[in-house]
Amino acid sequence: MTYQGVLSKYGHLLDIPPHTRPVTLLEGNTPLIQADNLSHHLGGEFELFIKYEGLNPTGSFKDRGMTAAVSEAFGRNATTVICASTGNTAASAAAYASRAGMKSIVLIPQGKVAAGKLAGAIAYGAQVIQIDGSFDDALTMVVEITNKHPICLVNSINPFRIEGQKTSAFEICDVLESAPDWLCLPVGNAGNITAYWAGFKQYNQLKSTGLPQVLGVQAAGAAPLVLGHAVENPETVATAIRIGKPARGEQALQAAEESKGRIIAASDSQILDMQKLLARLEGIWVEPASAAGLAGLAIEIASGKLNAKGKRVVAVCTGHGLKDPDIITKDMAKPRIVPPKLDALEEIILG
Ligand SMILES: *Cc1c(COP(=O)(O)O)cnc(C)c1O
Repeated sequence: MTYQGVLSKYGHLLDIPPHTRPVTLLEGNTPLIQADNLSHHLGGEFELFIKYEGLNPTGSFKDRGMTAAVSEAFGRNATTVICASTGNTAASAAAYASRAGMKSIVLIPQGKVAAGKLAGAIAYGAQVIQIDGSFDDALTMVVEITNKHPICLVNSINPFRIEGQKTSAFEICDVLESAPDWLCLPVGNAGNITAYWAGFKQYNQLKSTGLPQVLGVQAAGAAPLVLGHAVENPETVATAIRIGKPARGEQALQAAEESKGRIIAASDSQILDMQKLLARLEGIWVEPASAAGLAGLAIEIASGKLNAKGKRVVAVCTGHGLKDPDIITKDMAKPRIVPPKLDALEEIILG
């Protein structure tokens, strides 16, 4: 049978109500790419795989949860969805809502959303509203408005988002035929780490696939789970994880503890260095937030706190590099201009 998306493939394992009517863009089924060059660079002697979630239909893992949340809403004839977003949730909600013939409203923090994400939300037809405040302010507002009006909230506090996002853990176990030893991933609002941990635990109960240790990584300027308190003005180039008060923070800490893993912080320069390294060593270009998991892995290996030797490590790369091209081009030297003459080209290439 041809692939029909995550609800068709794994719906029987998800806690979603019977009225759910699938709205899919054939999300999921993303590649698990072995990254030998990068593993070698980090000291070698371990197997490293990239779960390339940037290859989902709207360019981020959010599509796995969004197909579940929008399908549930569509099945009970909801007409409008709303979310607060640092960008990727907005694009995903807008795309799935359009596919279902529903209206989408997205609230974004003013001026802090990467170009490719804003463009996506607009292209898919969302009503985009900028809030003169942070993501956390926007989230508070969508919770309030959905408590008052019949509009469906599709942020990851919607339980069906978590159900859909568990499917990535299932896919990893299906491909590796067990859970990896370590899973590293970026942590923002903490829905994804919650979903992975729930997914791995469920598969382990069903199929004895084992459990990974989970390394969650926040950006140093937006690291409430590392600091132990909310961050009033979170700041980081990794805009997808620029969140000071994670909605599922408690569950993230629980996942780290239960798995005998941890949550750490990586600086913006460590994140951007890893973004470049991954692109240059493996040909995989991800947006900055998506490199945070790997940046954290590199920090832990370098400091001797994580011995990866002989282990299987999966790094979740959550969103595509094309979402945020400005971060690459803003500091780059303009490519040289030469006349259309062979000798000029030879001089430049051969010196
Ligand atoms: C949403 C997002 C994250 C953070 O996921 P949470 O579930 O909020 O922790 C990380 N990276 C990218 C690219 C995202 O879009």
